Amino acid sequence: MTEQHRGQCMCGALQFAFNGQPKFVSECVCHSCRVAHGASVVAWVGVIDAHFELLAGASKLVWYRSSEASERGFCRDCGTRLFFRSSQWPGETHMALACVTEPHDLVCKTIAFKEEKPDWSMVHF
Ligand SMILES: [Zn+2]
Ligand SMILES: [Zn+2]
Repeated sequence: MTEQHRGQCMCGALQFAFNGQPKFVSECVCHSCRVAHGASVVAWVGVIDAHFELLAGASKLVWYRSSEASERGFCRDCGTRLFFRSSQWPGETHMALACVTEPHDLVCKTIAFKEEKPDWSMVHF
């Protein structure tokens, strides 16, 4: 795979790369993302699995089933949540944009699950 972008968790144990045209680059304000990441909003970049590669840390990667359809991948050592996979979007890996090494040219174009934005958030769309 010719890698175009790289990323990693906070401690660096987990490292990944991806290439090709992303399926989407979007922020999400759904309840599950917010609670899982402890954040008001989470930015994601999604690619087809063939364009994703885990470069290091397979033994540190833990998948938590966050719903019947979905699972979220995090680092066993530092707790950083990096990945999302769901049968709702089969064959795709979604990566937390905050974990992609900068500089890069990926920019969020949409906000998903706007109806779940909490009243306390200052996020505007
Ligand atoms: Zn880590
Ligand atoms: Zn979400």
